[in-house]
Amino acid sequence: MFDYLVVGAGFAGSTLAERLASQAGKKVLIIDKRPHIAGNAYDRHDDAGIMIHQYGPHIFHTNSRQVFDYLSKFTKWRQYQHWVKACVDGQLVPIPINLDTINTLYGLNLTSMEVEKFFASVAEPREQILTSEDVVVSRVGRELYEKFFRGYTNKQWGLDPSQLDAAVTARVPTRTNRDQRYFTDAYQAMPAHGYTRMFENMLNHPNIKILLNCDYREVVKHIPFKKMIYTGPVDEFFDYRYGKLPYRSLRFEFETHHTKVYQPAPVINYPNDYAYTRVTEFKYLTGQEHSSTSIVYEFPQDEGDPYYPVPRSENAELYKKYQALAEATPNVFFAGRLATYKYYNMDQVIAQALALFNKISTSDDPIIQTPTATRSTETAPRSNGNGGSPRSRRRQMEEIIKS
Ligand code: FAD
Ligand code: UDP
Repeated sequence: MFDYLVVGAGFAGSTLAERLASQAGKKVLIIDKRPHIAGNAYDRHDDAGIMIHQYGPHIFHTNSRQVFDYLSKFTKWRQYQHWVKACVDGQLVPIPINLDTINTLYGLNLTSMEVEKFFASVAEPREQILTSEDVVVSRVGRELYEKFFRGYTNKQWGLDPSQLDAAVTARVPTRTNRDQRYFTDAYQAMPAHGYTRMFENMLNHPNIKILLNCDYREVVKHIPFKKMIYTGPVDEFFDYRYGKLPYRSLRFEFETHHTKVYQPAPVINYPNDYAYTRVTEFKYLTGQEHSSTSIVYEFPQDEGDPYYPVPRSENAELYKKYQALAEATPNVFFAGRLATYKYYNMDQVIAQALALFNKISTSDDPIIQTPTATRSTETAPRSNGNGGSPRSRRRQMEEIIKS
């Protein structure tokens, strides 16, 4: 009998599985329908031997000491401060918009104070900042909004910024200095040996069993467990009782080029041209030395794996109905970006999972402290993240249930 069945081996599911197993002595089965652990943070070496992120570029950044310390139990870090250029009017300029962006774009030589005045002169004041259009237009005016945000947002979400919550474009600040970092968080780093290795270390505990390539709905009736953690799409869990919650998807196109460096920045955004939004060159992120280089294009689309909840009021209303169902479902806890319908970064998902663990462990049976398994961030067996050699689903199930 498992104490917990955890659906989804991404950050939400793996953090909870790890805490429940190592801190509360619970027996956990974690199931994922994909053939690997790590959810959307999954990385692997491609055919050329270059580390890529299978579901698009993942850069770790947080202001939470607690989250950074937590992950540091499972990985060493490579310091990395992310930076991005946008291709606008045929030039590559910094995004977030900063002093250099304006000077390059308009051939000027403004100071920080002058650019502040420039923004004030073009900004369109808004009484209330409700939408993603309001955020940008009220900061930098319509022309810069059109050049940097409108087209990108239309591509990314299939919606005009005026149809999206303010929080979406508010993720990208505006600066009057020359700081070209994409994030300003206190902790910014990449797992030294990749995300998948970090997840292997998280899940490498005698109380945790892993079942991959398996939709939990195929096996849930046959597995004895007491409680469930669910991290898949919340509307799917309830068989779309109130209709589908919109999630935006992406198609990824990877290329390997036989050159050391392909583009002059880790990520280049294309707000106005092409069907893709951005191109990422992984070696900048990972620091890998290699004579070739791999890149990925992101093409937004409606159909496909659910990657982004779509932040707008009508979706929040629909989610509230599912949230009420979730709260009324005994012995099932919902966590993560898909199950709580939140446009969360990795650190926010981990913080949410740690908070849920605290809640569960205070209301659950008394915590049994098990001696922490000796862990080294170097020693977990290197695999492709699929938890071992391929075995048939039935044998895997039998072994898991027997154990
Ligand atoms: P997921 O990683 O989606 O894990 C959920 C898992 O549940 C999946 O593996 C899925 O296969 C499994 N599952 C679903 N249904 C079932 C089922 N029925 N049965 C079995 N398994 C099931 N965050 C950052 O902090 N920095 C970044 O740079 C960044 N970049 C991103 C780029 C892209 C393109 C995307 C899409 C996201 C990015 N994020 C980034 C966000 C980050 O991916 C998420 O915050 C995080 O991965 C969410 O973790 P999760 O566990 O909630 O969900
Ligand atoms: N955005 C934009 N132009 C850009 C970068 C971002 O319009 O050059 C908008 C767009 O709506 C995007 C949102 O800001 O979805 C958040 O950007 P972020 O880079 O945080 O997106 P993510 O990495 O989550 O895809």
